[in-house]
Amino acid sequence: MECKKCLSLLGVFKDGELIGDAASPVKSHLGTCPACSAELEALYALSEIITSIKAPPPPDGFEDNVIRAMRKPARQFSFIPSFTPAFFYRPAMAMAVLALVVVTGVFYARKNTAPPDESYAQLLISDAELREFDSDILDIFYGEI
Ligand SMILES: [Zn+2]
Repeated sequence: MECKKCLSLLGVFKDGELIGDAASPVKSHLGTCPACSAELEALYALSEIITSIKAPPPPDGFEDNVIRAMRKPARQFSFIPSFTPAFFYRPAMAMAVLALVVVTGVFYARKNTAPPDESYAQLLISDAELREFDSDILDIFYGEI
């Protein structure tokens, strides 16, 4: 095994993640190569230093803040903003609103389909009158008047 390959496997070897046959070539190389062995020793020393470092104490009130944050209801994320009217959950109120909408719709539908009253009927002109009017407009347009 070359030093380059051994060095690339040294971290996983140190952590015991090379199993069975995969660890054998590394072990045999380390037995013959002082440079790679020294690198392995340095890795062990570095691991000891890292594990010896104590984490700084958390700031005052940290634990309470974490517990308070965990008790807070999570915000739900959605691309479509949700709008649910309060009465949606109250069937009786929802039915009253629905009935009001239906009654209002029926009222306006009847109002708009009612027959025209007399004054409106007076504004209507007959087909003959309309044709005469069109003829007058065309005469004016072509300068015959
Ligand atoms: Zn080597």
